[in-house]
Amino acid sequence: YFITIEGPDGSGKTSLITRLAPQLKELFADQLVETREPGGVRISEAIRDIVLGSKYPEMNRRTEALLFAAARAQHLVEKIEPALAAGKIVLSDRFVDSSVAYQGGGRALGTTAIRQINDFATNGLQPNLTLLLDLPSEMGLARIMKFRADDVDRLDKDALGFHQKVRQTYLQLAKEFPERIKVIDAQQSPEKIAANALQLIQESLKG
Ligand code: C5P
Ligand code: MG
Repeated sequence: YFITIEGPDGSGKTSLITRLAPQLKELFADQLVETREPGGVRISEAIRDIVLGSKYPEMNRRTEALLFAAARAQHLVEKIEPALAAGKIVLSDRFVDSSVAYQGGGRALGTTAIRQINDFATNGLQPNLTLLLDLPSEMGLARIMKFRADDVDRLDKDALGFHQKVRQTYLQLAKEFPERIKVIDAQQSPEKIAANALQLIQESLKG
């Protein structure tokens, strides 16, 4: 069973996972495999350093999009697919929807092109459930300005417009795939968000 967590910067993805992981481990023990993108395996973590580090400010947005997809291809083959084949529950911090939202929407490469390169990278594999943390872009931006000023520099994400495009693209995806993508109001308390997420996961697993 493949579950992904998505959301714009500052939506609280990382803190949700930190809160959720121990609860899921209690329920599913060694059935649970936690991972993240870009990354998860050696090659993909190396690509993460290239894409998200500050060493290559000249990187073109198409190069960036292809590197995210390349990292995903390796992650999938080496970690996600074997775990799913063994019947595990895979929980990934980001997956294809991130690329559609950030590179397709935020970087304006278009959602169609980003879907195409990711279909190639993943052979079309889709998560069973995606939890999308949603909040107003002003709030997400304010949070990262406060806590993670380094990220903001790297991605040119000074602009509220960038954040709004990412959010809008995520919300369009949620509209297009209402069965798979469940939106969680990320303005709620961390406890409520985690409870909400846990309930959605349990409902989804029951089918
Ligand atoms: O998920 P995490 O917060 O670790 O993401 C790291 C950085 O990568 C963030 O600044 C995020 O905006 C960026 N990112 C991106 N395109 C993606 C995935 C993540 O620009 N497809
Ligand atoms: Mg994070």
